[in-house]
Amino acid sequence: MDKKYMAEPYKIKMVEPIAVTTREQREIAIKKAGYNTFLLDSDDVYIDLLTDSGTNAMSENQWAGLMLGDEAYAGSKNFKHLQQAVQELYGFKYVIPTHQGRGAENILSKIMIKPGDYVPGNMYFTTTRAHQELNGAAFRDVIIDEAHDPELNIAFKGNIDLNKLEKLIDEVGAEKIPYICLAVTVNLAGGQPVSMANMKAVYELAQKHGIKVMMDATRCVENACFIKHREAGYANKTILDIVKEMFSYADGCTMSGKKDGIVNIGGFLALNDGDLYQKAANLVVVYEGMPSYGGMSGRDMEALARGMYESMDYNYIAHRLAQVEYLGEKLDQAGIPIVKPVGGHAVFLDARRFYPHIPQNQFPAQMLAAQLYIESGVRSMERGIVSAGRDKDGNHHYPKLELVRLTIPRRVYTYSHLDVVAEAVIELYKKRDQVKGLRFVYEPPVLRFFTARFEPN
Ligand SMILES: *Cc1c(COP(=O)(O)O)cnc(C)c1O
Repeated sequence: MDKKYMAEPYKIKMVEPIAVTTREQREIAIKKAGYNTFLLDSDDVYIDLLTDSGTNAMSENQWAGLMLGDEAYAGSKNFKHLQQAVQELYGFKYVIPTHQGRGAENILSKIMIKPGDYVPGNMYFTTTRAHQELNGAAFRDVIIDEAHDPELNIAFKGNIDLNKLEKLIDEVGAEKIPYICLAVTVNLAGGQPVSMANMKAVYELAQKHGIKVMMDATRCVENACFIKHREAGYANKTILDIVKEMFSYADGCTMSGKKDGIVNIGGFLALNDGDLYQKAANLVVVYEGMPSYGGMSGRDMEALARGMYESMDYNYIAHRLAQVEYLGEKLDQAGIPIVKPVGGHAVFLDARRFYPHIPQNQFPAQMLAAQLYIESGVRSMERGIVSAGRDKDGNHHYPKLELVRLTIPRRVYTYSHLDVVAEAVIELYKKRDQVKGLRFVYEPPVLRFFTARFEPN
């Protein structure tokens, strides 16, 4: 490759050995796991690209912060530090710590949604939509059509289609829309960013109708770096400036600290409205804990606060995006079908084009993830029909995108690891005709992708 990729802006202080296995061992392991990479033991995995969630390597400063945990039941100083981070970096007034992102989604859905409501969003996310639906709302996808085309290379593929949003408001009425859920970046579209112009326009439209905008801030720093690289007028702004402007177009956010917070566990709900905060504070004691620790220990809040400050370092985030792009370019140059452009946290293989002979209801992406594990010990995850689940009538949702996600944990792997991944995928592509689909042997009722089991056809 001609392009130069930025080297690591850190050095290694501690190492963690990883398992080197044989193909025979991996064939046994994947069978035992029901062809579901979620059910593999991590001891059997060589390079773990299952998720970038909670798999981050913390810095020396974050580890040092763990020793300063103030585990008081109420009024912990680490909560104050977390609150300061949210106020200074994201610009929201109130914060409620939760055990992770979905804890915040649960509380937000409960305080805002009434049965019969609609929540528009830029493509669904599994846990987010599950909480919206459990509280009686219907999710409506208002992302631009281009997001569903895995080959279309545009800068801000996560944007909301303002016409779709306006049509939904006309159709159901603003009073039936408690908030717009705006994710930055869009995980299921491939980690695609939203432009600042789009956030601003969505917020203005929402304000005109008295609708709130709640951001899913999980990968907001990646989104900010894309804005710096791609949107006119932002090249000379800092990541902090950009993040703050992004959140100036929102009334609150849910956050999974396990992603851009660079920690292993934690999250929060942030809000600007005092009344909503009161409602959330009343509920958090039922589901998580006191409003000053939610679902987190003092030391975990400290690590998250420190991680949030570190995440504003341009070198850190530019290197992260460069790693993802490196893997994407290697695969693309070898003719492997991937989602383009490459997003912020992962490279997505397009299983429809990889295994065109396997129908979607035989789970081509699920099978590709299993084959990649057998080939190389690399663990990835399905993001297609299995993740999409079933509708109210019990039929499969048939998402347009049938993908396998190769997710890069933050600060964990080197470019050499990524070379191993690329070589394995290229090898599988050569043998693609020999592979058949899968069928369910066990299907759980909700969030089925986590624990479902399969057999080859
Ligand atoms: C991970 C994630 C969540 C849920 O967060 P958890 O910490 O896993 O509960 C919500 N939204 C997006 C976009 C995510 O990636």
